[in-house]
Amino acid sequence: MTLSLYTAACTVAALLFILSLAGLSKHVSAKHGNYAGIAGMTLALVATLARITDVDRLGGVAALVLAIAIGAVIGIWRARKVEMTGMPELIAMLHSFVGAAAVLVGFGSHLSTSAEQGAHSGLPPAGLMIHEGEVAVGVFIGAVTLTGSIVAFLKLSGRMSSAPLALPAHNLINLAALAAFVVLTVWFVTQPSVWVLLLITGLALALGAHLVASIGGGDMPVVISMLNSYSGWAAAAAGFMLGNDLLIITGALVGSSGAYLSWLMCRAMNRSFISVIAGGFGSDGRTVGEVRDYGEHREVTAEGVADLLRAATSVVITPGYGMAVAQAQYPVAQLTSRLRERGVDVRFGIHPVAGRLPGHMNVLLAEAKVPYDIVLELDEVNDDFATTDVVLVIGANDTVNPAATDEPGSPIAGMPVLQVWNAKDVVVFKRSMATGYAGVQNPLFFKDNTQMLFGDAKERVGDILAAL
Ligand code: NDP
Repeated sequence: MTLSLYTAACTVAALLFILSLAGLSKHVSAKHGNYAGIAGMTLALVATLARITDVDRLGGVAALVLAIAIGAVIGIWRARKVEMTGMPELIAMLHSFVGAAAVLVGFGSHLSTSAEQGAHSGLPPAGLMIHEGEVAVGVFIGAVTLTGSIVAFLKLSGRMSSAPLALPAHNLINLAALAAFVVLTVWFVTQPSVWVLLLITGLALALGAHLVASIGGGDMPVVISMLNSYSGWAAAAAGFMLGNDLLIITGALVGSSGAYLSWLMCRAMNRSFISVIAGGFGSDGRTVGEVRDYGEHREVTAEGVADLLRAATSVVITPGYGMAVAQAQYPVAQLTSRLRERGVDVRFGIHPVAGRLPGHMNVLLAEAKVPYDIVLELDEVNDDFATTDVVLVIGANDTVNPAATDEPGSPIAGMPVLQVWNAKDVVVFKRSMATGYAGVQNPLFFKDNTQMLFGDAKERVGDILAAL
């Protein structure tokens, strides 16, 4: 492939990536956004391979094609198999691969350049110093992304506690690690050596793990989008090391859109962006797992809930992660249409971080054919609870926790929540009195107008349908 054809292909691929992001920003155009992304990536891969004309390197091309085929098979298998509730873990794992790739590209790039340059005395030439600077930064971002994503994977899949690590002076540890990185980079750029690069890698691996381990469960949604952003910058850094413009553009698109999403999510959750990206900075003094005596809770049966619903004229359903676990969206959709047929005004209140992925609840409800126009966002529904007869909290916990507004010392203090307790009656569907993902006790369960309906949400909604 000629250089001009290759440049044209890269430009079209870059445009397709931009179209993809634009498409993914809205529900209705998301599918087309995905197609544009797939087309862009296919074009980029084909153009990159076709550009290799050197016969000596054709063996390498064959190995590349084989690697792509193996990767594609594993990727398709995993993506088809994964449950919606497992998506965040899968995404975290995929981010770690981007980080690992950037580290490997960095080492490869350093080793091949030093082999070409040979030994030299004194300061290396300016071009080489710039290149080694790119290598140091690329390896650092890649290694932070690698271990940060692995810790996020472990936390999200429940293999590690979601509580923040909170080492003494953890902010100082982070600052010291950054200062050490600057010193090591200067050393590496002026006297390139694989040993210094290994030190940078070790430091960044430890920093990535520490940053994410320090973040509590309530802030994990921001961490996922932040790691998405880091993986983009890691890819952009790999692009600089390889001199590949398309990789730089793609990485920068992912990096900046991930950073923007993190900022939007921090704003939606009333969190400081700096505090989250700095790994729980400013979260000192807040405790997870503290048990308080809020009094006794009341229980209700499915028949009791059916009686409440028979008498109601307005109902709001606030789903959460438990609805996804139970796959209760189908009976919930059935209950919705049954109540609407009876003339009840039924709406859904969706918290921006309900579930384990932004938009998780919206996707599940759309899948079960719940009409879009009755699915409302937090700001659209929060003032209406006071005039609502019954709220059904289906597998949600942190997102309806009044401690966020009433208890300034709570780990979720300041996070906007669905103020369901203002309704006349609240029914909470869950299996036990356990805490939600943030590990914080929920005083809602002990309020006078709250009743608990224990058991699997899908079964309990089925029981209510039968009783109705
Ligand atoms: P929570 O994790 O706070 O609560 C889910 C509740 O569902 C639990 O209390 C659990 O109680 C219940 N549950 C689990 N399985 C079932 C079942 N089969 N039937 C009935 N109930 C069930 O969920 P929310 O959606 O309210 O809040 C989301 C939390 O996750 C927030 O802390 C958020 O920050 C965090 N998060 C969100 C992400 C996002 O992007 N949206 C990403 C990562 C984390 P029990 O075990 O007693 O049944």
